[in-house]
Amino acid sequence: MTSDKTPVLILGGGVAGLAAAVELDRRGVPSLVVEKTGRLGGRAAEFCCKATSVCARCGACRVGDLLREAFSRPSIAFLGGALAVGARVRDRGWEVDLAPQPVDGTGAGEPVEALAARRTLSAGAVILAVGHQPFAAGRKSRFGHGRVPGVLSAGELERQLKDGTLPAEARRLAFIQCVGSRDEVLGHAYCSRVCCGFALRLARLARFLEPERQVTFFHMDVQDYGPAWREELAAMRADFEFVRAIPGEVRAGAGGPEAVYAGPDQQPLAREFDRVVLSTGLEPPLAAAALAELFGLARDADGFLGLGGGGAESGAAGVYLAGTASGPRSINESIDHAALAAALAAAHLRGENREAAHA
Ligand SMILES: Cc1cc2nc3c(=O)[nH]c(=O)nc-3n(C[C@H](O)[C@H](O)[C@H](O)COP(=O)(O)OP(=O)(O)OC[C@H]3O[C@@H](n4cnc5c(N)ncnc54)[C@H](O)[C@@H]3O)c2cc1C
Ligand code: SF4
Ligand code: SF4
Repeated sequence: MTSDKTPVLILGGGVAGLAAAVELDRRGVPSLVVEKTGRLGGRAAEFCCKATSVCARCGACRVGDLLREAFSRPSIAFLGGALAVGARVRDRGWEVDLAPQPVDGTGAGEPVEALAARRTLSAGAVILAVGHQPFAAGRKSRFGHGRVPGVLSAGELERQLKDGTLPAEARRLAFIQCVGSRDEVLGHAYCSRVCCGFALRLARLARFLEPERQVTFFHMDVQDYGPAWREELAAMRADFEFVRAIPGEVRAGAGGPEAVYAGPDQQPLAREFDRVVLSTGLEPPLAAAALAELFGLARDADGFLGLGGGGAESGAAGVYLAGTASGPRSINESIDHAALAAALAAAHLRGENREAAHA
C-alpha cells in the first residue's frame, strides 16, 4: 500500500474486516484493511476444527477461505501493526491518522506487513471491524479459575484438544454456561450467542477423542441455531447430562474441582469432576470507547459500537460497523453483517446513503 488515499478504510483484519473487503471488491470498490496486530484472521483463526466423524459446522474453516479469497484480489491492500489515533471529517469522507504498534509476530492467522512510521490516510468511507473482547474467566472468582486446579475456560479446553494435552484420564467433564453473560451483576444482560454451540461442540469432540468421557452441562437454556442444530442437540441430550442450574461455586475437592449447585428440590448438591470448563462469552471491543470518541459514534446499552438492533450504521456519516464490534455474532453471522456494512459503504461512496451529509 503506497497511496495515502483509499476508497474504503477497514479497521480490523478478522473475519468481518476480510469479508467486508471481499464484498467491496465484488462491488468494484478497492479497500485497505488495517490490522492492529501483525496477523490477519482475528479470534476465529485460533479456533480448531471440531469435526468428529462428520463436520460440526463450527465455521472455523471459513477464516482460511476468506484469507485466500482476500489475498487473491489485487484491489485489497493490507497493513498490520497500526492503530487509528486521529480522525477528521473531510468532504464526505474521513482523514485518519495511523500510528505504528509493536507486533510480536506470534499467534494464529496470516502475517501482514507492519506500518513502519506514522501516516495519514484519506478514505471515502470507514468500516470498523475491530471485533470483541473474550470475557476473562478469572473475573467470576467464585468459579475458581486460576485458583482451583482443574478449572479452565472453554478457550483453554479448545487449545488442549487442539494440541492433544488434555489427558485421557480427564473423564468427568462439567461445563458451566453463561460465565460473564446474562449477568446483571456484571452489567452484561445480553446473551453472547456463540458459547452454547462452542461448548457443546467441544464436549462432543472431547467425547469422540475419548469415548469413556462423561459430560455434564450446567445451563439456564440452550441457544437455538436452527433446524440442523436442533437435530444435533437431540443426539447430545441423549449422550450428555443436562442440568438446568448454574453452580454457585466451584471449590477444590479431594479428587478434582467440585461444583456446588441447587438440586431439583433446591437442596445444595456438591459434585466432583476431573475438569470444570467455564463457557465465557463476548464483551465489547477494547477499543470501543476510544473509537467512539475518535469518530463520534454511538454505543448501545451493552457498550458495543453503534445504534444496536443488528444494523451496520454507526451513528456517524460514512462510518459503518461489521461483525462483533457491534454485538455478539457467530463467524457466519459476522460475515453476513460485513456484507451489509460493505453495501452501505459502497452506497455512501456513490452518494446514495440515507444518512445526513456531514455539516
Ligand atoms: C469463547 C468464544 C467462542 C466462540 N466460538 C465460536 C464458534 O464456535 N463458532 C462461531 O461461529 N463463532 C464463535 N465465536 C465468535 C467468533 O469469535 C466471532 O464471530 C468472530 O471472531 C468475529 O469476527 P470479527 O472480525 O468481528 O472479530 P475478531 O475475530 O475479534 O477480529 C477483530 C480484529 O480486529 C483487530 N483489532 C482490534 N482492535 C483494533 C483496532 N483498534 N484497529 C485495528 N484492528 C483492531 C483484532 O486484532 C482482530 O484481528 C466465539 C467467540 C468466543 C469469545
Ligand atoms: S465447519 Fe468446523 S468442523 Fe466443519 S470442517 Fe470446518 S472447521 Fe471443521
Ligand atoms: S450462548 Fe448459551 S452460554 Fe452463551 S450466554 Fe447465551 S445462553 Fe449463555
